[in-house]
Amino acid sequence: MTRVDGRDVRAPLSLEADVVIVGSGPAGAAAAREAARLGASTLVLEEGRWFAPGEFPLSSFDAMAASYRDMGASVVLGAAPTPYVQGRMVGGSSPINGAICWRLPRDVYDEWVTADPALGDALPFDEIERTTSEVEARLEVRPTDPSVAGAKNQLLARGAEALGLAHRPIRRNVSACEGLGRCMQGCPGGRKLSVDATLLTDAERDGATVASSIEVTRVTQERGRATGVVGVSAGGARVTARARRAVVLAASAVQTPALLLKSGLSRGPVGHHFQCHPGVSMAGRFPEPVRMWEGATQGHEVTGLRHEGLKFEALGFGLAVMSSRLPGVGRAFAREVDDLAHQLDWGAAVRAEAEGRVRVVAERTVVTFTPTARDVARYRRGLRVLGEMMLAAGADHVAPGVRGFAPRVTSVRELLDLERSGPTSAAAYTAAITHMFGTCRMGSRPRDSVVGLDFAHHDAAGLYVADSSVFPSNLGVNPQVPIMAVATLAARRAVGAVDPTPPTRRRLDLT
Ligand SMILES: Cc1cc2nc3c(=O)[nH]c(=O)nc-3n(C[C@H](O)[C@H](O)[C@H](O)COP(=O)(O)OP(=O)(O)OC[C@H]3O[C@@H](n4cnc5c(N)ncnc54)[C@H](O)[C@@H]3O)c2cc1C
Ligand code: SF4
Repeated sequence: MTRVDGRDVRAPLSLEADVVIVGSGPAGAAAAREAARLGASTLVLEEGRWFAPGEFPLSSFDAMAASYRDMGASVVLGAAPTPYVQGRMVGGSSPINGAICWRLPRDVYDEWVTADPALGDALPFDEIERTTSEVEARLEVRPTDPSVAGAKNQLLARGAEALGLAHRPIRRNVSACEGLGRCMQGCPGGRKLSVDATLLTDAERDGATVASSIEVTRVTQERGRATGVVGVSAGGARVTARARRAVVLAASAVQTPALLLKSGLSRGPVGHHFQCHPGVSMAGRFPEPVRMWEGATQGHEVTGLRHEGLKFEALGFGLAVMSSRLPGVGRAFAREVDDLAHQLDWGAAVRAEAEGRVRVVAERTVVTFTPTARDVARYRRGLRVLGEMMLAAGADHVAPGVRGFAPRVTSVRELLDLERSGPTSAAAYTAAITHMFGTCRMGSRPRDSVVGLDFAHHDAAGLYVADSSVFPSNLGVNPQVPIMAVATLAARRAVGAVDPTPPTRRRLDLT
């Protein structure tokens, strides 16, 4: 058996494996692949269900309702309530993400080592690099083919060139991409090499079991040791999973700390230091039809201001989502919708300095986060640069989507006004969060970290955290590949550290 579907599990179920992994996103899939490759019997528990490519609904909102957590309506609370978006299915956010691939930047790694020099020995950059190369080869990561770039990506290149900013085709994990522009609703043609179709199937080939539609509710412990997890199936039955060697949490930087807190493992900064990359976006109207829905969803990026904590990307939304960005009401709005073929949207991902917190209140997960004044200044600068690139690429006008500022802008002077004296409240900006980090920080000092540099929880033996919760900071770049690389190392440490003798390959025991 390699798959259990919790929708069909209506009577109590007990499972057992050497390594029990919670979550099947980039972190969980990479950890499962490595654990199974090393010969450990491996069980992955995932709250969401499997989706075959043809099963993703065609409408944006139906796709979000089916495969996103909270139907895509999760919100961080604070001065500016902002959506944070996560996939909830086998593969985590990977099947509905933009397929953008970056390696862990050396400058970010150096910041980590400066803050905690022991990290340099425990997590050598060379090992991360080697693992990244291996992951990238499996995911067939390569630059977007010009044949599927489409106008939205080509125009971004033109705008960046005009401003003298470094730019490049985005490196993506796709194979024979047709440029259908639907990555964030789930690729209907199965062209995205998301982790469900790659790392997780490798793990299954090596004997791992994936149990989907099962929500883990607690980590079980005996005498200071994690012994497994308990949860509930979508069919309504209690599920227990005993871990002979290790429990590995890979449920994301929001759900992993929530699970620790629900399990009474609250010592240390668990849930603190929530970091993210809020993204703001600029819409623009071009005289010629640019048909945002054609071409690679996210095929071009501008990297020239990464040192300022800003990275720019072409975006590709469904038409319904794009319409919600258009200004006006009544007839004026209807005219904008009629004109959709001329509209584009590009985004700026901000490496925010603000830190938020994940808490559990009455069994519900609550995330709070308020951008600092400097972060909001970066929103303004990001929008100015996006607008300037759009105007330089030939846009008639751009729409910053900033409450309290002109809905349409046609000149660089107005964009400079926005940067210098636009609204200072984060609540004025239309933002969304898709990259999250830091809530179970790794570190050599137990007083200011949740796991050690070997990914092992400071208080519960046999418990490991493998996702971006452990990252000492946000990255400023798209994190899925660094998450896969680091999770591979976490599984390596978990399997090796628990018992240095290689475990025998065993199939899952079902009772
Ligand atoms: C719309 C969107 C676009 C993005 N685009 C990109 C991109 O182009 N490039 C990039 O690098 N990154 C992108 N990201 C971010 C990237 O996808 C995430 O950083 C990455 O998926 C995080 O990996 P993870 O495994 O830590 O968490 P997730 O991918 O969130 O996976 C965690 C999994 O754990 C499951 N889970 C949670 N709690 C439980 C529980 N209690 N019991 C059982 N299962 C549980 C969840 O259902 C989920 O499937 C994007 C994200 C989104 C949402
Ligand atoms: S751009 Fe379209 S075809 Fe290409 S991977 Fe994304 S959804 Fe699939």
